[in-house]
Amino acid sequence: MVNHKKIIFYLSVAVFFTGCAVPSRKPPVIPPPPVAGEIKPSAPIKEIIIKIGIIESTDRVSIEGEDDFTIINIKTGEKFNMPADDIYILKTVKDKIIFGKKQFASDIKIIPRRTDQKITVDGKRYKGNIILRINNRKKLAVINELGLEEYICGIMTKEVSPSWSFESLNAQAVVARTYAIKNLGKHASSGFDLCSQTHCQVYGGFGSEDERSNKAVYNTAGEILKYNGEIINALYHSSCGGRTEDVKNVWNDSKTENPEYLMGVKCGFCEKDKWYNWSASISLKMIGSNLRSFGYKVGDVKKIKTAGRTSSDRVKEVLIEHSKGALWLRSNRFRMAMNPNVIRSTNFTVKIKSGVAYFRGHGWGHGVGMCQWGAKGMAEDGWNYKKILKHYYLGTEIINEEK
Ligand SMILES: [Zn+2]
Ligand SMILES: [Zn+2]
Repeated sequence: MVNHKKIIFYLSVAVFFTGCAVPSRKPPVIPPPPVAGEIKPSAPIKEIIIKIGIIESTDRVSIEGEDDFTIINIKTGEKFNMPADDIYILKTVKDKIIFGKKQFASDIKIIPRRTDQKITVDGKRYKGNIILRINNRKKLAVINELGLEEYICGIMTKEVSPSWSFESLNAQAVVARTYAIKNLGKHASSGFDLCSQTHCQVYGGFGSEDERSNKAVYNTAGEILKYNGEIINALYHSSCGGRTEDVKNVWNDSKTENPEYLMGVKCGFCEKDKWYNWSASISLKMIGSNLRSFGYKVGDVKKIKTAGRTSSDRVKEVLIEHSKGALWLRSNRFRMAMNPNVIRSTNFTVKIKSGVAYFRGHGWGHGVGMCQWGAKGMAEDGWNYKKILKHYYLGTEIINEEK
């Protein structure tokens, strides 16, 4: 969903995005903006197999099976049975994968004996198969290959609390499924579809599943959001602070689509979010150093002013006056440079006092698409998930591709 310059930009800030929304108050999902030309699914949804990058680069990883498992050399097709009575430590040495006493010169796939058995990778259990490949840094990349619906089960509690009203869980499942299908192949150059971090959707594997959130996934199985027959780019965020935002106001460039379904709408249901009102303070010195570490050539920061407001009351631009001149920044870029978990949204005001900038704002996240806390509020008010989704994504239809 990003243009490629922005992929680099977002990856560079990925260190700040270490989780997502509620209830553990991890940072919200900040998916990047749309990109054209994504891979369209060629199979019915229930047959889609998705590859998730669970470890993008490591020197070593431990693997354990619930029962004996099979290793397949992906290049030669050779198979080896491995007993389950061991925890295997895998490493790379000179472009080879060392797996116990075996060595492989190409990528390998680990397949459990039975489909309900999990493979444990560095202590976390996963459904499906595990692929190990040597990446371009000559380190190990670990990929989980599994069915799409099983993948959605593994992201639900990373995005919302499974204790939330059931209709909001249904809405989350449809949005997560739509997002995944729309973004298949996003990390194709690294050998997988989606990463397991906030850059795509946070995925915790089998260990993060919950019976109630799984029920929402199976309850909505096969359902996705479409606009004029096309799968939508289902962006979402933690809380909007009152009104959602037009996508063009967050990522505005020639490559960003600006469809009707990503136009801002009134929410008014997310007041219960702890971050509906937030405040933060950052010294002007720190603001200068944050901007420099993002590559902006600024001297000592003297003043910060906001310029313009969007229809959802978010700041359009930030003016930074510094000892070497002035810098105008789009508010979203300013937020990313400061740390999006400190400046939680671009709906803020700022006052300077004794060398410190004091921010007060509303909501958490970019504000585009579904407001997760708003969906929760609507569900508590008796809205069903279809009504919730149609509210946040104007003009869309929920299509069950399985029927
Ligand atoms: Zn990603
Ligand atoms: Zn909201």
